[in-house]
Amino acid sequence: MYIHMDTSDEMAIKIECDCCGVHEDCTPTYICSIKASFRGKWICGLCCQVVNEQMNRTPSATIEEAMESHMSVCNEFNSTMRLNPKLALARSLRDIARKKKKSTKHRAAKDSSESKIGRTTSLRSSSN
Ligand SMILES: [Zn+2]
Repeated sequence: MYIHMDTSDEMAIKIECDCCGVHEDCTPTYICSIKASFRGKWICGLCCQVVNEQMNRTPSATIEEAMESHMSVCNEFNSTMRLNPKLALARSLRDIARKKKKSTKHRAAKDSSESKIGRTTSLRSSSN
């Protein structure tokens, strides 16, 4: 007789991202694995992606540095967008305008589809 360890039966609990504050429902096992790889911090799927990308871009950066830099972006967003949406909107429009100026032409076809899908690996079709 097999004892089947099926973690998908686990009850999901609500947890708040330490970066952006978004709430996600995740199983304790999953939460543990994320916390283990992010120095005891729980970060949501989006922040995970951003931190991973930052690590890819700057291989010399430690995971703490990547997280810190992303957290400061999130904090800034929370303290501007939440407190003063109008000002935040003006600022982000200004940023967009700036970025447009900078990267008008030399935008080589970047392969954006290669982003790692850390948590949706279960999407694999099980036909076969
Ligand atoms: Zn987050």
